[in-house]
Formats: sequence, structure tokens, C-alpha cells
Amino acid sequence: MDSSDAAGVDLHAFHARDLGATLVAIEDRFVWDVGPTLEIATVLEQAASALGDAEAVTRARLCLANMWMRKGDVAGAARRAWEVEQWAVDHDRPMVRARAHLVLAAVHGHLGDPATSLEHSILAVEYLDDTATVHAQVWHRAKLADALAEAGSMDAARIRFAQAEDLAASHGENRLHMAVLNNFAYSEFIGGAHQRAQAVAERLRRMADRYGFDLDPADLDTIGCIQIENGLFAEAEQTLLGCIALHSEGRHDDADALAEYLLTLSRAQRGLGRTDLAQAALDASRALCDERDLGDVIVRVHREQAELHAARGEFAEAYAEHQAFFRAHEQRHSAQREAQARTRQAMFETAEARDEAARFREQARRDPLTGLRNRRYVDEHLPALVADPSSPVTIALLDLDHFKRINDTRSHDAGDQVLVIVAGLLESQVAAGNPGSFVARMGGEEFLVVLPGAPYADAVAHLQRIREAIRSHAWAEITGGLPVTASIGAAGTHGRAETNRQKLLSTADANLYSAKNGGRDQVVSGLENHSGRRAFRDATPA
Ligand code: GH3
Ligand code: MG
Ligand code: MG
Repeated sequence: MDSSDAAGVDLHAFHARDLGATLVAIEDRFVWDVGPTLEIATVLEQAASALGDAEAVTRARLCLANMWMRKGDVAGAARRAWEVEQWAVDHDRPMVRARAHLVLAAVHGHLGDPATSLEHSILAVEYLDDTATVHAQVWHRAKLADALAEAGSMDAARIRFAQAEDLAASHGENRLHMAVLNNFAYSEFIGGAHQRAQAVAERLRRMADRYGFDLDPADLDTIGCIQIENGLFAEAEQTLLGCIALHSEGRHDDADALAEYLLTLSRAQRGLGRTDLAQAALDASRALCDERDLGDVIVRVHREQAELHAARGEFAEAYAEHQAFFRAHEQRHSAQREAQARTRQAMFETAEARDEAARFREQARRDPLTGLRNRRYVDEHLPALVADPSSPVTIALLDLDHFKRINDTRSHDAGDQVLVIVAGLLESQVAAGNPGSFVARMGGEEFLVVLPGAPYADAVAHLQRIREAIRSHAWAEITGGLPVTASIGAAGTHGRAETNRQKLLSTADANLYSAKNGGRDQVVSGLENHSGRRAFRDATPA
């Protein structure tokens, strides 16, 4: 569970069967080494993709999104996490949803939107399922507690922190338990409950001693902040010097971490009256902020600078710096609002693109002239219907008779109008049939009717009604008196142990050929006896 173990995943030893375990190792981290994690997640995405493991691809992408966010591409991270969430909805993967919502909660936290962050944090716990690792069960609850505290509900936060602690303790996850305590202490601190914060921080220290863990720089910064609030400036200075020394050992590389620690050190030193040292630490923090564009920290650097001027009795400078603080604060606020808008736009575009893709998929399976299903749709849907042994299916090829005459004596446009009307007649006739039935335009003036479920004789009778509906339509205005009729060749899977789409279509095609040869405007199904090939047609009332 130690982060350095997880970071040490050996890419060369990596093997396809380790995919799941390696994914969990990078998902279940509470301290992030952005560079190495990006590298691992990229390799995992490729490996999962090569294996055709869509869920693993998606989970690797979520890790990538998380790392992008930490590198400052919040909108990109939001868009990707949103895609992951939608994939998980479509494929019913609650745990992937839970993890996606945890990343989205962090995204909105970064954007200074605690209400939305809280919504996602709630879902990140709600979607935990029985595949959730202990780490996820603990950490998702701890992050919900953070979000509750951030949104001002400290009592509710304490309940969640207690749950997370109990879970971690009962599984002997001591390092994780310490991470929960760190967040708990920090939440008490930002909520202004400095005595409680102090108590939690002391428990954190005792745990570290008991289990022989080093405190992280982040832990030490939290402890230092609490010591400052409680007036323990000398202790705080020692804590922060230790924190910064540990950070410079290079084990942790969060972009704004060092600037933050230097700022805390400066506050401790100001408290001790060591204003020169405080100024040096603050200057170092400001330089980092400028270098890395750390908008959030720079605001607090300005405020601390104002305090430092005041401590030295430089009241004019303090006043000027205070104004600089307000400007920076305002700037930060509007930058966050812009980032929020960008993120919302990115998420909106993802949803749009998804609808667009669905529309495109649907369109690609429709014939543009008539709006009927097309051959592609048939290729995708017919095999399953034909192969289903529990339900028979009737198919029929329908070809308009002497269609060329309409094109030639009227116009191609008139021909098109006939095709559109025939399509409408077919659609309404077929829709009146069994559920699952459909009609497709196979090309030219040839259509396919698919009638699943019904006994063959009933389906053939239905085809007779279709033929009749075409013949009896009022065509004169379009065709100038030319009749429009159709020949239909039917075939069914009824009573056959084994059949396939090709055989069925070729039987229907042969029957269509017979219908043309037999004089057109008729249905041939193989049910008619030789002498009475036209019996069906004649039996149909006109
Ligand atoms: P038969 O009774 O033997 O089927 O006679 P037919 O004239 O219908 O036979 P054929 O299959 O030879 O002719 C089909 C014609 O349909 C040829 C082609 O010009 C016309 N056609 C194919 N696609 C379209 C289309 O999209 N619009 C129009 N207007 N005509 C089309
Ligand atoms: Mg024809
Ligand atoms: Mg034809």
C-alpha cells in the first residue's frame, strides 16, 4: 500500500495477465507521482487495447485523466472522466462509475466549485460495489468527508471520516488510515476547529510512530498549519523545516506543494518574530508561484506579504499589498469561473458527440431516399433472428414490377416518389405485424420484409395483404395510369432444424424469380400447389 511500492511497477516485467493487478495498483493510490503514473497508465492503455479489454482501456484512461488534472489540464481531464462515466453507464460497471465520479469530484474541487464536487463525491461512494477494493472503500469515503467539510458540513464530514477510519483499521491498512487522518486534520483546520485539528494531528503522529511510517511532507504541512493556528510557532517551524527537507529528497512532486510548504514556513517564522527568515521563505514561495503559475497559492502569498509588512510596522506597504491580495483574489475567482465554463463546455461537447455518434450509427443503417433500414442493418440483425431456434422467422424479397417503365415513361423523379410511397406502405403494413418485424430497402426497387414469430402460413397471408396494399394504392397521379405492383418471394425457417441467412435469402430469391415468371403481382412461398400457384392471389379479396 506504500505509494513508493505502487510507483515502482516494473514496466519491463509487465505482462498481460498482470493487467488487472497493475491497474488496481495505480488506481489505489493516495499519493500521486504524476510522471511515472502517466507512463504506467499509457502502457496499460496500450496493453489493454491490444488485448481487446475495453474495461481495462477505460480504467487506464481514467488514470490518465486524473494525471492530466494534476498537471493542470482540468477541462481535458473532465471531458475524459465524463466519457469514462458514460461508458460505465452503458456497460453497467458501477465500480468504474464510482472511480470516474471521484475524479470528477476532484475536477470540481480544483475549479473552486464545492457543491458540484460534493455531488460527485456522493456518487463516488454510492456506486462502490462488491468489487471495490478496501482502498477504494476507505478512500472514497474519506474524499466524501473532505467534500462535506469543504461545503461546510463538518458534522457530516466527521461521520464519514470515522467510517473511513474504522474500515481502514479493521483491514489493518495503517498507511491508508494515516492518509485519512491527514485529511481529517486538514478538514478540521480549514473549518476553524483548531483544537480538534490538533487532536487529530496528534493521533496521526502517534500512528506514524507506532507503525514506523514516515510522515509525508503533506502530513507535516497539515500539522505545521495546525501548530501555527494554536500559537506553537517554534514547533511549526521545526515541522516545516522537516517537511521541506523531506520534499527536497524528491519523493513527491506535486506542482504546488513546495510553494505551499514555504508559505507555511514563512507564517511560522513570522509568528516567531523572525521576519527576515519569513521574508526569504515567502520570496522563495512567490518565485515558485510565478514560475509555475500557481494562481491559488499566489493569492495567499500576497496576503501573507501584507501580514509580514504589518509585522515590521510597514503599514503603507501592508496596505498596498493588501490591495494586491484583493486583486489577485478577484483574478483567481474569475479564472476559476472561466475554467468552470470551459469544463462544462467540454463535458457538454462530449455528450453532444455521443448523441452525434448514435445518430450517425443509426443513419448509416438507413436508406437515405426512403428512410427504411438498409442492407447493412439486415446484415447485422438478420443472422440472430434466423439462428434463434425458439422462434420461426419469415423473410420475403419484394421487387416492383416493370419499374423501369415508370422511370422511362414518366421520370426518374416519379420513380423515386413511387419508391418512397411503397416504403411508407411497407412500413405501415409491417408495423401492423409482429414485434421485431422490419422492412429494409436492399437496393433499387427491391425490398426485404422480415416477419419473426408468426406461423409461415400467417406470414404469407400477411405478405398477400402487403402486395394488395401496393396494388390498390391510388397511383394514377404519379404514374399517369401505369399500375404499380410487386412480386414477392418468401421463405421461412419453420420446422427446419438448421438453416442460415444465405440459404433463406436464396430460397426467397428463387421464389421471387418464380413470381416474376408466373406473371408478376403475386406471392410465391412454396406453400402453393403446382396447379394453383396463383391460388393465394386469387383468394385475396380485391
Ligand atoms: P421487373 O418486373 O422484371 O422487375 O422489371 P423492372 O423494370 O422493375 O426490372 P429491373 O430490375 O430491370 O429495373 C429496375 C429499375 O429500377 C432499373 C433502375 O433504373 C431503377 N432504379 C433503381 N434504383 C432506382 C432509384 O433509386 N430511383 C429510381 N427512380 N429508379 C431506380
Ligand atoms: Mg423490378
Ligand atoms: Mg429489380
